[in-house]
Amino acid sequence: MDFSTYFRDYPTPDGYYGEFGGMFLPPELQTAFKEIYDAYLTICKSAQFISELRRIRREFQGRPTPVYHCQRLSQKLGNCQIYLKREDLNHTGAHKLNHCMGEGLLAKYMGKKKLIAETGAGQHGVALATAAAYFGLECEIHMGEVDIAKQAPNVARMKVLGAKVIPVTRGLKTLKEAVDSAFESYLDSYKDSIYCIGSVVGPHPFPLMVRDFQMVVGVEAREQFMEMTGFLPDVVTACCGGGSNAAGMFAAFLNDPVRIIGVEPLGRGPKIGDHAASMAYGTKGVLHGFESYILQDESGNPQPVYSVASGLDYPGIGPEHALWRDCGRVEYDAIGDKEAVDAFFKLSRYEGIIPALESAHAIAYAMKLAKEMHSGSILVNCSGRGDKDLDYVIENFGFGEDHRFED
Ligand SMILES: *Cc1c(COP(=O)(O)O)cnc(C)c1O
Repeated sequence: MDFSTYFRDYPTPDGYYGEFGGMFLPPELQTAFKEIYDAYLTICKSAQFISELRRIRREFQGRPTPVYHCQRLSQKLGNCQIYLKREDLNHTGAHKLNHCMGEGLLAKYMGKKKLIAETGAGQHGVALATAAAYFGLECEIHMGEVDIAKQAPNVARMKVLGAKVIPVTRGLKTLKEAVDSAFESYLDSYKDSIYCIGSVVGPHPFPLMVRDFQMVVGVEAREQFMEMTGFLPDVVTACCGGGSNAAGMFAAFLNDPVRIIGVEPLGRGPKIGDHAASMAYGTKGVLHGFESYILQDESGNPQPVYSVASGLDYPGIGPEHALWRDCGRVEYDAIGDKEAVDAFFKLSRYEGIIPALESAHAIAYAMKLAKEMHSGSILVNCSGRGDKDLDYVIENFGFGEDHRFED
């Protein structure tokens, strides 16, 4: 595939990345999503939108986030050098705010009054509530009752930020039901509101918009890395839930002689219900309005998924990743809970950076690869900080005294 014309060729106007993507929606909602796409195509090119988003990134989010050379960690592993793109230092502690601020600014330009979304672990809800507060927009977050009970701190954050958290009580009372509930609310109010998806998934144009808003990560990192070292990294890697932090990072390196690897969660192992590795074990199908690799049963229902990192337990992956894999540009591999937790403790102890358990998957992969490579460099997207995971980690794994390198 020719990547010099990639951004002109993909997605197609109807939202396809090869055979993946599209817009699978009830007819009533197709008009609403088309309206968002048309508005985005015009607005994203306007000088005013671009300069306002740049100013927000600098003054509110604290961008650019640095690239950091993990000297001690690299030295423990051999001669290959590991670098982190520090999205954990982005305002609110993760990359998610990059697309939420973009979606919020788009809503403002479209004259919408309300942002609607669902949330599972609450990370997307908190980032969107932050954007809504910044822009003075209403915010309605649908969340399963089970998740509300599990994620009390994030629920509190959303409420303090002024969002309305709607408890979803039907079915299993988790993410799937929250998606249905949020869609219904949007159907009732799309003239005044906009639906904000939390990753490079969902119907067109969201995989495109979210990737564009996240591409600031890769564009900054590429420039920073070249300035630091004079070269491109040999390998670029990131963890994949829906795939937004990875897509933003990878998109900036597609046309470079760089190996790109996405890391999925292998959880407890390859049995159904023990992982969320959609590339490794999924099949082609439709989920939440788009076509991609999905973990599904024979009748097309999503399978149960699990990962120690709640931000990674999604039974699908963005359609652009599916294209990147099938054309051979990006490789996908998986890391289990154990290795991710080990990387969580080692990055904390040897570098003074406590990563999100999601990001720890990519860091674990880089550590494994560094041992095999003996030389060269790996640039890892550290998608978020681990403060949110500390209570859970301590309760289940202690303080990590045994996660040390032998001296
Ligand atoms: C939500 C989240 C992820 C997973 O989402 P992607 O869309 O795959 O990036 C990864 N890391 C952190 C810190 C998250 O909060």
